[in-house]
Amino acid sequence: MKKILVSACLLGYKCRYDGKDNLSPRILKLKEDYILIPICPEQMGELSTPRDKSERKGDKVISEYGKDVTSNFIKGAQRALEIAQKEQIDFCILKENSPSCGVHFIHDGNFKGNKIKGKGVTSEYLEKHHFKIYNELEEIKN
Ligand code: SF4
Repeated sequence: MKKILVSACLLGYKCRYDGKDNLSPRILKLKEDYILIPICPEQMGELSTPRDKSERKGDKVISEYGKDVTSNFIKGAQRALEIAQKEQIDFCILKENSPSCGVHFIHDGNFKGNKIKGKGVTSEYLEKHHFKIYNELEEIKN
């Protein structure tokens, strides 16, 4: 069976910044045909749950209270890449709009709910290493 690296919150893990999940029954059902490998880059970057909301601001990631958490996000991305390579995954499905996992869109850094084109830190890192990434709504062509 092919292997997919998946944002853990899409599978029902309560790893979001607010301690909730983003369960997607469609993504969870993929376990019938694929091996799903859950990751949460923010937890793997040693941030607690719940945690302060953060957004990308250029090359940095800043919490809503102004704390620079860029190094946590980079650590999480590096660990996600290690897992992707070790497990020899076939592709990824990551949560859109997240500062870690966003595939095509992220928030604009002003904490007002506005979205802009861009990628989360982990998505960007995995893509640079040639992994194919879908968001949770896209049709999977693998
Ligand atoms: S970092 Fe990714 S997996 Fe973790 S809660 Fe945020 S979107 Fe979900």
